Amino acid sequence: MSVRAVDAGQASRARARMVDRLRTQGIRDERVLAAMQAVPRHQFVDEGLAFSAYDDTPLPIGFQQTISQPFVVARMIELLVGGRELGRVLEVGAGCGYQAAVLSRLATEVYAVERIRGLLDRARDNLRPLRLPNVRLKLADGSLGLPEAAPFDSIVVAAAAIGLPQALRDQLAPGGRLIVPIGAGAQQRLLLVERQGKVFKESWCEAVRFVPLLTGME
Ligand code: SAH
Repeated sequence: MSVRAVDAGQASRARARMVDRLRTQGIRDERVLAAMQAVPRHQFVDEGLAFSAYDDTPLPIGFQQTISQPFVVARMIELLVGGRELGRVLEVGAGCGYQAAVLSRLATEVYAVERIRGLLDRARDNLRPLRLPNVRLKLADGSLGLPEAAPFDSIVVAAAAIGLPQALRDQLAPGGRLIVPIGAGAQQRLLLVERQGKVFKESWCEAVRFVPLLTGME
């Protein structure tokens, strides 16, 4: 039986269990939890993987890329919110479009960029039925940010950088927050950057494991 064909109630109950688990894992922001409850994660992965969509595990999305486990998605967004409104958001690494859909419920606008054309097409197909009017997808090298839509109140990078790209720092609005995994291989940690006027405050958060941030487009 195709799990994609499961009834909405079944999927919603699986998400409720996922949200309960996120609470026990320490996610506190109710708006983030509500957004995680609302987005049908199983519709963003291959049918054969849909049964694991709500488990606490990363999943392959094709093109040797992965979607992070629900805890990491929720934690990054919670750190990004930091008690403010998300406002206008740049997501670098749209992948299958899942995180963009979660962000769209908390943001005024989401600009999600992806460097692999085939994945961007997949994200578009996944997002279409959800009819989210405030998500824009673009094929671009996100290490350069998205100058035509900058500045952003919030920037989330879904791939690990060796160092924070200067363009992303430059495209952060005053009062803005940016979250990025920094490091290589197994040695990665989330870096939170808060812009207060001309000052950029940096704090290190938990250890994570992301695919690398690459340059150029495919
Ligand atoms: N947030 C995604 C998962 C991202 S996986 C989701 O919800 O599905 C990381 C993604 O970052 C991959 O799709 C990879 O192709 C993309 N990526 C890596 N470097 C990039 C760059 N410089 N610009 C844009 N996307 C990039």
